[in-house]
Amino acid sequence: MRLTNLTRANEIGANSYLLDFDGDGRIVLDAGMHPRLDGLEALPDFSLLPVDSVDAIFVSHAHHDHTGGLPVITREQPRARVFMSQGTYQLADPLLHNSIEIMLKQRLDKNILEYPLFTHKELGNQVARWQPCTLRRPLDLHGQPILGGEPLSFTFHDAGHILGSVGIEFNHRGQRVLYTGDVNFSDQTLMQAAVFPREKIDTLIIETTRGAHPTPPDFTRENVINRLAESILDIFDQGGAVLIPVFALGKTQEALTILHLLQKQGRLPRTPIFIGGLGRSFTQIYDKLSHVTPRAYPNLQLLPQMQPEIMDGRRARESRPKKGHIYLISSGMMTEKTLSNLFAQHFLPQKHYGIFFIGYCDPDSPAGRLRAAKPGEKVVINPLAGEQEVRCKLDYFDLTAHAKREDLLNYILEVNPRTCVLVHGDTPALEWFQHELQNRRPDMRVLIPTPGKEITL
Ligand SMILES: [Zn+2]
Ligand SMILES: [Zn+2]
Repeated sequence: MRLTNLTRANEIGANSYLLDFDGDGRIVLDAGMHPRLDGLEALPDFSLLPVDSVDAIFVSHAHHDHTGGLPVITREQPRARVFMSQGTYQLADPLLHNSIEIMLKQRLDKNILEYPLFTHKELGNQVARWQPCTLRRPLDLHGQPILGGEPLSFTFHDAGHILGSVGIEFNHRGQRVLYTGDVNFSDQTLMQAAVFPREKIDTLIIETTRGAHPTPPDFTRENVINRLAESILDIFDQGGAVLIPVFALGKTQEALTILHLLQKQGRLPRTPIFIGGLGRSFTQIYDKLSHVTPRAYPNLQLLPQMQPEIMDGRRARESRPKKGHIYLISSGMMTEKTLSNLFAQHFLPQKHYGIFFIGYCDPDSPAGRLRAAKPGEKVVINPLAGEQEVRCKLDYFDLTAHAKREDLLNYILEVNPRTCVLVHGDTPALEWFQHELQNRRPDMRVLIPTPGKEITL
């Protein structure tokens, strides 16, 4: 088997990897888009794949860094079947249609002439090629149940990261390969811990997002949520409002559930909560699939029970935050022109307001720069607004959807692969895993795949 890293750099960017099972199938794992780059550079390097040379494309979950390039590779690989979980099947469609709208805006704002990279119509036609697959049911590359004797089959396993996220296991002539996608081995509030194979894996391709973040020994998610509740109450007591920049998919639904439980327990007042329009679309899908996907609180219907108010661009520009309100709006990285970036302009000058971060943000993103700022310092989160002094309260609550690095390491040691391929991490994260594994398992082949270079596994 051979692997080619189709990304353009070893980082968390546009995820995509080619696996060539030597005459038994050529498959692509994920087809993402880079969150910070523009134009064709934001895509994986699909030029490494000759047209019509791929048998199947697998999507681990619907986050944009794993699906954003899917319509482009699907166009170039007309024979390839596209496999994903039921949850991803529902989520990827609105996500990619929204992505077209963003590209259309960027075409005008930034003069990116190749945008949009695909159209609503093309995407609509492609969806017919997507096949939703059930968890834990081995299928062949035609999407048919296996009868035995097939050289290559695949099985989806719940990855516990967001709705529909899966790790993908391949069985190739008795050799087992597992691609984790983005994974979480601990329970979140809504999503429950991954249910992954625990027996021997021959080749493990594993995400390393949190490799540079040691978990404090006294860390518990419960403590983090308690501190979040107290900090929100503090802001409310001073007559302020709280802005929580979140990804529309995953974080919005986790945060809504946390706030719902805190309100139900009487630990937070039942004050208005705002979410964005895309956040609402995804929450609707979480509600719709609550009984048929692995998650906690299957009877909880977030939209009808919480009735969040919907924030749009005009409202974010024109209205002012109101005392005691919580704004759970995207994007999580506070990218320019997104709701959270626009609305943050009203928060920064207000001493008794709070901006609380609850997940990963790229250090070079506006959210990353703001998170690193100290009170009284000047920051630029939007060039149009210029430098702004940070007067509001800033805080970080670690409610990540990614596995702790200690859990990832333990999993690698437990399934003890002959070859471990490290992906989806920045350089310090990748290097931490490489160093730990080389010390603990000197016999294990540990690889950080160079972009564009084929390696034999
Ligand atoms: Zn993800
Ligand atoms: Zn990811």
